[in-house]
Amino acid sequence: MKVAVIGIQGDVYEHIRMTEQAMEELGISGEVVWARRKEHLQGADAVILPGGESTTISKRLKGSGMHEALREMASEGVGIMGTCAGCILLAKEGDDEVYKTGTELLGIMDMEVDRNAFGRQRESFETELDVEGIGTVNAVFIRAPAILRTWGDCRIISEFEGKGVAAVQGKHMALAFHPELTSDTRLHRYFLERVLNG
Ligand code: GLN
Repeated sequence: MKVAVIGIQGDVYEHIRMTEQAMEELGISGEVVWARRKEHLQGADAVILPGGESTTISKRLKGSGMHEALREMASEGVGIMGTCAGCILLAKEGDDEVYKTGTELLGIMDMEVDRNAFGRQRESFETELDVEGIGTVNAVFIRAPAILRTWGDCRIISEFEGKGVAAVQGKHMALAFHPELTSDTRLHRYFLERVLNG
């Protein structure tokens, strides 16, 4: 299995390390690569899009040709997991801020996000979350988005204060928080298993 972690911004190294560990725990052989350019995505079975700043990441994805490549790969059955800013970019619809800043969403998951849903009240926080299919996890939120609405095959699997913070659609997975900042590999394992099981 080849997993590509988009290496534009955010906790790229942490995601690589967590994915390598998750693969080892699941007995999956393969490689995890740091994807700086479109060529690095070639042959990937799964892609991880880390957090950061969604406007900046969207510009760099566009400029590098990775925006189109990711959309194509998703339509061909490659699973994509987006965390925080990555969760925003996976969505089909965003809030006013997304449009005002000219952020180009990848539009891969049937969901609407609010880019800084928790930001005004709390910049960053840590909390326990119940995630369907996984159990209770410790989640780190940093200027986190929320998943306001889903349709089609997209389904919310965790909520915090009445807002969606994790969703799945086929092999794709969106998390409003940062699983790479804990030592718990269950979310990465869950994603890899979804990719493997189709
Ligand atoms: N809210 C941020 C954005 O709009 C995302 C923050 C994060 O990825 N930690 O891009």
